[in-house]
Amino acid sequence: MNPFHYARANDVADAIRQIAADPAAKFIAGGTNLLDLMKYDVEHPARLIDISQLPLRSVEETSSGGLRIGALVPNSDLAYHPLIEQRYPLVASAILAGASQQLRNMASTGGNLVQRTRCFYFYDAVTPCNKREPGSGCAAINGVNRINAILGTSEACIATHPSDMCVALAVLEATVHVAGPAGARTIAFSDFHRLPDNTPQRDTNLEPDEIITAIELPPKGFSANYSYLKIRDRLSYAFALVSVAAALELDGDTIKEARVAVGGVAHKPWRVSAAEAVLLGQRADASLFAQAADIMLRGAKGYGHNNFKIGLARRAIVRTLSQAARGTPQSQSVKKIR
Ligand code: SF4
Repeated sequence: MNPFHYARANDVADAIRQIAADPAAKFIAGGTNLLDLMKYDVEHPARLIDISQLPLRSVEETSSGGLRIGALVPNSDLAYHPLIEQRYPLVASAILAGASQQLRNMASTGGNLVQRTRCFYFYDAVTPCNKREPGSGCAAINGVNRINAILGTSEACIATHPSDMCVALAVLEATVHVAGPAGARTIAFSDFHRLPDNTPQRDTNLEPDEIITAIELPPKGFSANYSYLKIRDRLSYAFALVSVAAALELDGDTIKEARVAVGGVAHKPWRVSAAEAVLLGQRADASLFAQAADIMLRGAKGYGHNNFKIGLARRAIVRTLSQAARGTPQSQSVKKIR
């Protein structure tokens, strides 16, 4: 772990001023990913700017009927917040599928969005990794790639985005509020995370001198027909091999609106508009959901150890949509898939 300076930011403007003044600095809030990255010699910030005391911990209703979630709301507080439980249970379910209670107590909502891939080679500083060291190569493509991506990959990187919460936020079409030296702006959730292309070192479209201030949920929470299913190698405290967030609006058996995103398969939560369009106006059943799954997985490519993810994702999409249609969401306290 490298030596570093520590400073605390007094307010959002001070945080922006401090990060803009020092390109080698990093913000730290809960630190649940960054401290690991520093211990593994992956990140070497010369300065940590502690933003944990900034006034970004409130959950407020917006004038449009949505919800504005401060970037520093701990994951646990968000999952158990009454408005999230009642109106956005998909978000609560996805958060509770991730990490451990202790980690969720520390991890912030904003930090969840910018956590980095858990690709084995990214954390192994002696192996080639274009994300850690651009131009060095990718050890995962011909290596142990069981946990790596099958969609949206590039010759430079086949990493996945590790968040559960982000898969739900993609389905709900959240907006990310950020602020930087040029002022405040919003980023649509679908544009927040990037595919690797030839710049895998950049996970998101957040600029290095910008700070996330809030996540905004639109009014529609799909609280009647939703499900978040996570498939992993053990029943808790493991990242998704494949996860699926599904949200439906039904009129009887007929689908009026459909949203699906898949996690654990790409560098960002994976949504395909054509797959959602095929569901509209149709009767909700497993054969229809299989058609949507096939569209979502068009172009999927395995790299050896992760070939199994293609079939697994197809089955998980069908199952999650079926649970959403029945109004029987996956329980995160009963993780076992029977
Ligand atoms: Fe690095 Fe990406 Fe290759 Fe993993 S998949 S070794 S993160 S370049």
